[in-house]
Amino acid sequence: MSTTHQATLADEIRQITDTNVVECYQCGKCTAGCPMARYMDLSPNQIMRLVQIGDKSSIDKLLRSAAIWYCAGCLTCTQRCPKKLDPAAVIDALREMSGNQGKTAHAARKIIAFHQAFLKTIQKTGRMSEFALVRRYKLATLDLFGDLAIAPVMLLKGKLPLKSHKIPGRDAIKKIFATCREHSRTAGKGGGR
Ligand code: SF4
Ligand code: SF4
Repeated sequence: MSTTHQATLADEIRQITDTNVVECYQCGKCTAGCPMARYMDLSPNQIMRLVQIGDKSSIDKLLRSAAIWYCAGCLTCTQRCPKKLDPAAVIDALREMSGNQGKTAHAARKIIAFHQAFLKTIQKTGRMSEFALVRRYKLATLDLFGDLAIAPVMLLKGKLPLKSHKIPGRDAIKKIFATCREHSRTAGKGGGR
């Protein structure tokens, strides 16, 4: 009798991140060191467990969680894991799947807007432009007047240059973004079973 192996969420995550989530034995060290765990609706070790389970409801819970967006990418979890797993990379992959499938958490919409404004700014100029970042973020969230009071101080101190500086080699940056988009598209195909 022939059997075909259907790729699980853990398989997909392993392909993207080179982390075998199945090896996580739930020691909780990642969560114990995570500076954002107290704000998350799922802790890092719970995220790893749900990826291991990988059924429809677990995938939905993961992709709709705010936790995957609250992660600050500090890599403390990855540094501390005794199994040398990379929960930070797993969370990054889940973010991409969540965005691709339109399942992003409403509670994290401002973080997501910032994330997208940051990426768009880098994609356009190849480097950070604080003014362009703030403009994109404000337009996306319609939070036009929040933090307005600090803008003059930042302008006076030269912390908010109005002109964007473009780097040479932006074509290489565009290629990186195109590769990432293709990668995300392929990964996003299976994550919503
Ligand atoms: S530290 Fe590593 S093994 Fe322990 S729960 Fe976190 S991911 Fe799993
Ligand atoms: S990378 Fe994210 S999940 Fe890991 S410790 Fe930092 S904030 Fe927590």
